[in-house]
Formats: sequence, structure tokens, C-alpha cells
Amino acid sequence: HATLVVIGAGIVGCSTTYHLAKQGWKNIVVVEQGPLFATGGSTSHAPGLVFQTNASKTMTKLAQYTVELYSQLSTDEGPAFYPVGGIEVAYTEERMAELKRKLGWAKAWGVDDAMLLTPEEVKAKVPLIDATKILGAYYVPSDGIAKALRASEALANDAIAAGAADFYGNTTVIDIEVVNGQVKAVVTDQGRIETDKVLVCAGIWGPRIGRMVGEVIPLTPVQHQYVKTAPIPELAGETEEVNFPMVRHQDHAIYFRQHGDCWGIGSYQHEPLLVDPDNILPYAEAPVMPSVNPFTEEHFGPAWESTTELFPALKGAELTYKINGMFSFTPDSGSVIGESTQAKGFWVAEAVWVTHGGGVGKIVAELMTTGVPSLDIHEMDIHRFPEVCKSSDFITRAGAQQYDEVYDIIHPLDQQLHSRELRVSPFHPRLQELGAQFIFSAGWERPQWFKSNIALLEAYDVPPRHGWEAKHWSPIQGAEHLATREKVAMYDLTPFAKFEVTGPGVVAYLQSLCANDVDKPIGKVIYTAMLDENGGIMCDLTVSRLGEEKYWVVTGGSVHGHDLAWMQAHLPTDGSVRIIDVSSSYCCVGLWGPKAPAVLQAVTQTDVSKPQFKFFTNQQLRIGNIPVLASRVSYVGEEGWEIYAPTECGLKLWDTLWAAGQEHGIIAAGLAAFETLRLEKGFLLWGTDIHTEYDPYEAGLGFAVKPNKGDFIGKEALLQRKEYASRKLCFLTLDDPTAVVMGKEPAIADGKVLGYANSAGYGYSLGRCVVYAYLPLGYAQPGTKVSVEYFGQSFAATVVDKLL
Ligand code: FAD
Repeated sequence: HATLVVIGAGIVGCSTTYHLAKQGWKNIVVVEQGPLFATGGSTSHAPGLVFQTNASKTMTKLAQYTVELYSQLSTDEGPAFYPVGGIEVAYTEERMAELKRKLGWAKAWGVDDAMLLTPEEVKAKVPLIDATKILGAYYVPSDGIAKALRASEALANDAIAAGAADFYGNTTVIDIEVVNGQVKAVVTDQGRIETDKVLVCAGIWGPRIGRMVGEVIPLTPVQHQYVKTAPIPELAGETEEVNFPMVRHQDHAIYFRQHGDCWGIGSYQHEPLLVDPDNILPYAEAPVMPSVNPFTEEHFGPAWESTTELFPALKGAELTYKINGMFSFTPDSGSVIGESTQAKGFWVAEAVWVTHGGGVGKIVAELMTTGVPSLDIHEMDIHRFPEVCKSSDFITRAGAQQYDEVYDIIHPLDQQLHSRELRVSPFHPRLQELGAQFIFSAGWERPQWFKSNIALLEAYDVPPRHGWEAKHWSPIQGAEHLATREKVAMYDLTPFAKFEVTGPGVVAYLQSLCANDVDKPIGKVIYTAMLDENGGIMCDLTVSRLGEEKYWVVTGGSVHGHDLAWMQAHLPTDGSVRIIDVSSSYCCVGLWGPKAPAVLQAVTQTDVSKPQFKFFTNQQLRIGNIPVLASRVSYVGEEGWEIYAPTECGLKLWDTLWAAGQEHGIIAAGLAAFETLRLEKGFLLWGTDIHTEYDPYEAGLGFAVKPNKGDFIGKEALLQRKEYASRKLCFLTLDDPTAVVMGKEPAIADGKVLGYANSAGYGYSLGRCVVYAYLPLGYAQPGTKVSVEYFGQSFAATVVDKLL
């Protein structure tokens, strides 16, 4: 019997076991199909380049911790980390601008040693390079080369020495027994191990292990080419394994590192070469290693040309080591972490780079020990993929796109081209007729703005844009924003997740989850957070009481799986509460704007005037023939309702409201306007402005916390945090009315980085760009001046008391 069986002794399995041991776990059994520790998995042949800076704050923090951890490790063979620095060169003006943007992330996330270099400075650090080819570079001295096998072995040995874990090589997991939805045992070719917890760190084999319990682990192995040259005369006498900084040449999708007097080259400059996890050979049958396929010369030619252009000294060099190595790509390139909802006790830590292996191990150990990781990990959440994004067709297409774009300059609104129209709302035909520009979100097609609204530009002034912030932008979205404030607009909110929660235990259950008091009269809509044990904001949603023992919980489409998993994990075991996911049964229209009451009143016999239909209440009523639930709430800060109707009645509902709205100048408006409208009103978005790293008080949501109502998850921790609060979510506006920033920019004052733009967008009614940032209390007073850095340019900003 084991407390936990870990499958896989690559970097992820070893790191997580080490961190579990630190958390006090005992009796962990790690099983590995290959020999220890050069197991034949991806870790066995990763050249180990660790570039820390990432668009994601969490990924950057995980990489920083990983560097710190590997730096302390070694084996008899030598250190596990060489802090030689990382250089990313720019071939184009566009890349140079991107590197400036990257420097902004570095400042925002605390990569304090990051800097830009001139071509000459690059040449001084890497003499082999032809500096005339580049415009400049981004440099992080603390980046470096991880020796992933040494790190794995050192971490494993530490856990063994602590008496926490035993590692078994040459032991293959062939089945996992699940009884009544709970893991009971792991079956290996060497015998059966009883356990109620298993952690899958099986890398590219993950999907095969997932299938044993019915869990889709959405990743595809992709082949990636890596080669080494024979000794290069210019490097003669280099005795250190690695001395020079590593180099990334992202414009040609290649990267380089030194191996003593040889040069290593990794290439993404070829079509994605996908591998079916079922076709990976067993260790005994693999010619080199299970995760290595024969080198395909035909895919390397262009990469070699690019290589010798940047490093002329390599011309004519022989390549003595050549592989197509495999590692995992997921549909959004994020890792996959968490406990399955298919089988209790089935934990997953998959699709993790060596770069993040230390940090992910720590986070997973925290999650499994206390349930509360010290970083926001929603981007890696195992529950983030909707069912339509879990087919092997979707996973392989999306994984291939991620491979293709791994070094590309990605705009936050760049769209995937494959697998579109998987989920459309019943209004879809009307949205298409109106010229909706769709974006893909959680499988849904969501209108961003509508071509048909072009005529609004005659009535509304929208400042023009240029450059990065103009990409995928249309002035029409600004006009939709202004028309919503002045008249009335319809928003397709069908992707909202709706959960019907019922049963005799429902009040106690929701009271234990929600920070707000939800034991309110029937017809009340309650805005609330659900907190984790640490008082951090796990979910942000509305709870509506529909009956004595019946509630509706409504949350965003992109957190559907996340929030549902949290609620399910806390269901009482006595069956006194039931959650039914009714999301697909109901469509939703947001009808908002000063004319919304007039439009609604024209199509219903119910009196919807303010005294009869108060804010934050809902009512069942009819719109024409259609029975709907109307909630008087607004995320855009204007009069109006979220209107829920049976999905099959959606088109009729849309047409009825549309017809009634004509005399009031009704329009359809998209997500882009929805976003800037909420920004101007100070409303928060979970995942960006709030998540588990923040608590409701510092986020300004104290009004929705009712500590006196009784106990709820996270209350104690929250009240303690309140005592020691040191920062506050602030609203800022840029002083220059024509300036626009996009989010993630550092906020700087007195030479210090104080915070960063959690959200940012242009407030078309305010006539200024709005930025949300958590600032230290000393800087949170209205009138405080800070600067916001965007592509290396500094914009003056002022903390304001109130936005619109
Ligand atoms: P693995 O190391 O593959 O470990 C999984 C283990 O699970 C394997 O040892 C396997 O044998 C075992 N296993 C699977 N199924 C079973 C079973 N049924 N029973 C028992 N055991 C099982 N990352 C970077 O950060 N920087 C780089 O520069 C870099 N370069 C790379 C270059 C190449 C050519 C390749 C291929 C990858 C590179 N990577 C790099 C990616 C990195 O190697 C991987 O993301 C990382 O090693 C994955 O670690 P892991 O522990 O999840 O997987």
C-alpha cells in the first residue's frame, strides 16, 4: 500500500516527489517504465535551455523558482544548472519591438536583470555570431542551461534520503483500478500497488494513462529536431561544458547552445511532426530511446541555412548527433495540472517544460497537500477545456498550431484557424447577418464587433489607432460602446455557464462556499466570490435564488469547467445537494442601455419598472411567447437585464427584442465593447483582475463579503489577510487621451515597479485609457502619478477615485 503512486521519473515526477517530501509526505512510490534516471522520456535528451521570461506571470514565476532550485542541485557529474544567460536576437523591426514588449513583462513579473543589447554587445558575449545580421537582442543574465537528468536524480535522491519515497525503474503501469469513482490501485507489470492517489507525470505517454480512468489528457507528442556539430575550430580549448550564453533566433524558429567545443542547434523550423501516443515504442524496442524518432534530414535543411547565416563559423561543420526528440504540446500550450473529475485521487502534472519543472513540482505538491497553491494556476487548470476541445482531432490540430507558432509574435487577439464553429448560440444566424467578427473562446464563436454597425461611426467619434494596439481592432467597437451608453444594445451571452443547484442541503452548501450571504428571499440575485482556504478568490459569479431549495449559479463561459469542478469538489457526501449543468439548455441575451427598460416593457406584460423590478432581482416573465428568466443586473454599468430563455426559443427571443428595439436605435454589440464598458465602470474580470492570489478586500470587493453570516471557506484566512493588507486594486487613467496600452505593462513610480496592468483598455466614454493595477497602499491615493511602460515607451498615468 502506498500513500501515492507517481507515474514517471522524468523531471516532473522527480520534482513533484521532492516537493511532496518537503511537505511531509511519506510512503510515496514512484514507478518508471525505463531505467532510472535516463528513462528514455523527454527529460533524457532535453538540451535544457531555461529562458525565464514569459507573457504569463505564472509561467515566469515558475521558471524563476526553477532556476533557484536547480542552482542548488548537483550530482557526482556536476552541477544541475549553468547560469550562462539567455539572449534572444532580433532579425526584424517587428521582433525588436516584441523584445521591448518582453522587457515590459520582465519588469512587471520581477525578472530584474533583463535588458536589451546592441548587436555589438551580443558579439562581445557570443563571438561566433555575425552581429551584422541582427538589430539587437533581449538578454537575461540569470537564464541558463539546466542539466535536467542531474536535476531529476538529485531531487529524487533527496526525497529518498528523507525517507519519503521509493523509486522503481523498469516498472510499467498497465492499469489503474477505480471503484465508485475513487482510485483504488495501480497495476504494474511487476505487481499491484494499493493506493487511493496516483499522480501522472508520464509526459508524452500521459494520454494513455488518462484513458485508463476515462480522463482526456489533452496533449499531443510532437517531434522536435536537435543536433550537435563536431568540434568547431573557433571553440577549440573550450573545456567548460557551457560557457557562452544560449541564443534564440526566433524569427527563424531556431535556438543554440554550446556543448564544450561543439555547438547545439534546436529547430522548430519545420512542419509539426505529430506522433500518436499509442505508437511510441516500448523502451526495449526503441532504437535510441522511446521518445526519439529517427532524424529526418529533409526537415532540417532550412534550419541549417539559417544557422550558418547567423554563425558563419559553422559552415561545413559535420553534425555528429541528430535526433527528432518528442515532447508534449497542448491546445493552448499551457500545462495540464489538477485532479480529475473522472476519478477521485487521479492527479495530473503533464506538458511541463524543464524550464518550469521545479516550479510545477512545488505547485502540484502544494495543491495536493493543502489545496492552495501559492500562485494563480488557472492557465494550467485541467478543467479548462470544454468537451468539444477534447477530441483527438482538436487536440492534434491545436497542438500542431502551437508548435508552429512556438516562437511567433502572438497578439492576444490572434485567432486559431482550425476547428471553428464547434459551439454557436441560437442567435448565430442573426449575428452572421449583421457581419459579426467572431473570436474563438472555450469552443464558442463569440462576436467581437459587427460590420453592420459601421454607420455608427457617423454619429460617434472614436479616436484612431496605429500599431500593435490597432491589430484586430476596429473603430466600430468604440462606436458600439458609445451606442450602448446612449441607447440600447443586445449582447450574446449564451456561453455563460449556468448551474442549477438544488436539494435540502443547498442553502448550507452555498453558504459554506460563498463569501456573500446567499440565504436571501426568492428572486434575489447575489454577486459573490467563492474563496479558497487561503482567502484567495477562487470563483467570481452570481447566485440567484429561484426557490426555497433551488438556486442558479451563473459564471463566465471560459471558467465553466473550473468553477463547476470547485463546486463539485465541495458537494456534501450525503446527497443533500445536486448540481445540474444546465448551460446548454439556456441561451442568454444581455439587453443593456438607457433604453433597455423601454424595449423590454414593449414586449412583456410584466411591469418591469424600477419599483416593481428592482436591481439585483430576477423574475420569470414572457417576452412575446417565450418564457424567460430576466435578471436585472449589468456588467456594463447601464440599465438592463440578462435574459435567459430555452435555447430552442433563442432565435425568436432575439427577433422579438430586435423588432421592439428598432424605434430606440437598438444594435447588436460585441465582446470588445462589453470589455471596455465594464472597465470604465470598475467591474472586475476573474483570471485577470482577481484570482486566487488576490482577496476580496484588496480587490475592493469587501461589500460582497459578509463575515457575520457564519462560516465559509477561506473566512478565517481572509480576516487575517485583511489585517495585513499592503496593496489595493487601483483604477488609473493615462494622462495622454490618445495613448492606449493593452495590459501586463509594468506600473512604475520612484524608480520602482509597483505593480502591473491587470487589465487595460480604452474608455471610449471617458476619453482615456483605463488601467487597473494593484498598488502598494502608499501609492493608492487618488491623484498619485505613476508611469506605465508600453513597448519601452513611458506613459504618465494618474490614480483616480472613480472612473465613469
Ligand atoms: P518525461 O521526461 O518524458 O518523463 C515521463 C516519464 O514517464 C518517462 O520517463 C516515461 O518512461 C514514464 N512513463 C510513461 N508511461 C509510463 C508507464 N505506463 N509506467 C511507468 N512509467 C511511465 N524543455 C525546456 O525547458 N528547455 C529546452 O531546451 C527543451 N528542449 C527540448 C528539446 C528536445 C529535443 C525535446 C524532445 C524536449 C525539449 N524540452 C525542453 C521539453 C522537455 O524535455 C519536456 O517538456 C520535459 O522533459 C518533460 O518532462 P516530464 O517529466 O513531463 O516527461
